[in-house]
Amino acid sequence: MTTQFEPVIGLEIHVQLASKTKLFCTCPNGVGEDTKPNTAVCPVCMGHPGTMPVLTEGAVALAVRAGLSLHCETQKRSSFSRKHYFYPDLPKGYQITQFDEPINGAGYVEITFGPKDNLQKKRIGIHHAHLEEDAAKSSHFADHSLVDFNRSGSPLLEIVSMPDMRSPDEAYAYLTEIKRLMRWVGASNCDMEKGELRVDVNVSLRPVGTEKFGTRTELKNLNSFKAVRDALQFEINRQTEVLNAGGQVKQETRLWDKVECVSRPMRSKEDALDYRYFPEPDLPPLVLKDEWLENIKAGMPEMPSSKEARFMAAGLSAYDAGVLTSSREIADYFETVTKSGKVSLKTASNWIQTDLLGMLHAEKKEIENSPMSAVQLAELLEFVEGGKINRKQAREVFDEIYAHGGKAADIIAKRGMVQVTDEGQLEAWAKEAIAANPKAVADYQKGNKAAIGALVGGVMKLSKGKANPRVISQILAKLLG
Ligand SMILES: [Zn+2]
Repeated sequence: MTTQFEPVIGLEIHVQLASKTKLFCTCPNGVGEDTKPNTAVCPVCMGHPGTMPVLTEGAVALAVRAGLSLHCETQKRSSFSRKHYFYPDLPKGYQITQFDEPINGAGYVEITFGPKDNLQKKRIGIHHAHLEEDAAKSSHFADHSLVDFNRSGSPLLEIVSMPDMRSPDEAYAYLTEIKRLMRWVGASNCDMEKGELRVDVNVSLRPVGTEKFGTRTELKNLNSFKAVRDALQFEINRQTEVLNAGGQVKQETRLWDKVECVSRPMRSKEDALDYRYFPEPDLPPLVLKDEWLENIKAGMPEMPSSKEARFMAAGLSAYDAGVLTSSREIADYFETVTKSGKVSLKTASNWIQTDLLGMLHAEKKEIENSPMSAVQLAELLEFVEGGKINRKQAREVFDEIYAHGGKAADIIAKRGMVQVTDEGQLEAWAKEAIAANPKAVADYQKGNKAAIGALVGGVMKLSKGKANPRVISQILAKLLG
């Protein structure tokens, strides 16, 4: 007999804060691969003896903004501790982190998951989110290793979830939401390829219907959303097999091999590190002034959940509202297109999702680098809404603006695209199309309403694309009784 198990999943996410300076010195933060190794450094972030850390305000401000986006309670008093371990990329022999007094207390996020037409929502608790410094970056070669200190001392926010997730899909949705929120408030760019978002997951199983947690395993440093989903699914299957065979899951840290899609033990609890945390003597507790905190709160943008609710109240589906608020830039673009009230939300939503994002995605571009501005698209869509050009023509104009710039009105005039609206002319074409396609007429009259499509196509051909298919359909239907 096999028992039914349910997974219990928690995530620890490190995001690199997008502040100008590092956490405890004024070296530039987040310089990236194109900066020469070991040039964005100073004695503080190199861990030289006798240097003193000085907390930088920019990183603290972003940590608070990030926390507010996660509905965390900002802690007016927080403090720093030393976490000891030895590794070549950690020259001080300890990392400065927040241990028992994090800057952000408990909070939550709302995740959306499931099929497009049946989206589900669920609240995932945040245990806390604390500030800490990043280590340097080591690269290992056959006979030597190199360490680049450019990343050493970069500010990280570690977001620790409650064990509230019950499937790899929920974990994926949680990650998506964290990334959306961090980017939305400008706390982090969350570029996983640059290591700006790193994920540790822990997962255990328990028999369905029970409360007590099973023994968990941890998977560290997963570097893509796909890896998180795959690794969780693998672990769930592996633990299920162990338990069903009468065995016990070992509490251990495992490594995910994304090439072979398997997890392997890294270290077990018996040799778990003792970090010997103690309060950082060189940094006083961080106490936030009321006025400073109020300023941060006042500077928060409208959050995506609020925009989503507004878009849905105006008639968009949950799915469309989700896509249009997947980044602040997309939401801003959408709102600019619809601002005048001359373009319906649905039309703007369709064109942005299908046409614009489709093109941008194919070129691996973000909407902020779109060659077509929101104003340009709005001008084009006003012609569509007014029935002056049809969708096919609009797409041609769209392609031209996207590739070469320009104004919709000029391109439409230049190409002589204005639609034929003369009813007499349209009716003449409709009669011609009916005469030319008796089979479609017979099918239509037998009840196959879709057969009208062939006749509409005939009129479009006769009009050289300058008729409006919707108007033609109506005329044809009238003529055919
Ligand atoms: Zn430095």
